[in-house]
Amino acid sequence: MEQTRPFFYKGLISFVKKVGNGNEIPAVKRDKKRRDAEFSAKLLILPKIETMEQQQTDEKFMRLALNEAEKALEEQEVPIGAVVVADGRIVGRGHNLVETLADATAHAEMQALTAAASTVGGKYLSECTLYVTVEPCIMCAGAIAWSQIGRVVYGADDPKRGYRRYSEQVFPPRTTVTRGVLAEECERLVRSFFAALRR
Ligand SMILES: [Zn+2]
Repeated sequence: MEQTRPFFYKGLISFVKKVGNGNEIPAVKRDKKRRDAEFSAKLLILPKIETMEQQQTDEKFMRLALNEAEKALEEQEVPIGAVVVADGRIVGRGHNLVETLADATAHAEMQALTAAASTVGGKYLSECTLYVTVEPCIMCAGAIAWSQIGRVVYGADDPKRGYRRYSEQVFPPRTTVTRGVLAEECERLVRSFFAALRR
């Protein structure tokens, strides 16, 4: 959003210059003022409000993914949690269950995706957003790609096991990714778990 701002300003200035030319009667001028105000609201203010709203929504659902991670912690699992959201509603949730199920593939994302597919009643989740506390591993990234999920939002980076170490092209082109939402909280949870293990 920050990068596109100069472009918006330029567009606004040239617009004001354009409509400012010629002799205008007062009513037209008043109308122009109103249009200018609407124009700047559309270009400068509304995208910012939308971004802020999106950020608040993302943080809200990431907190719910963190709740899932806390459940994993209570079960002595690596604390990673995930939720799948469609139309502002949670359609799937899950947390890491590798130890509980003695299954190396029982990651939080896998649980949440399976639950979401069952709720939605279809294998494709293109209208859904997955929130996960830690960057997905390459296996989960593959599963996310197969589900054709529309958007992925994650908290902490995972430089060792995260998919970005291998390829960022694992997701279909139309899947958008947002990283770093409540990253500190997400990372702190995992760090404290491993610190306690070493003690
Ligand atoms: Zn995984």
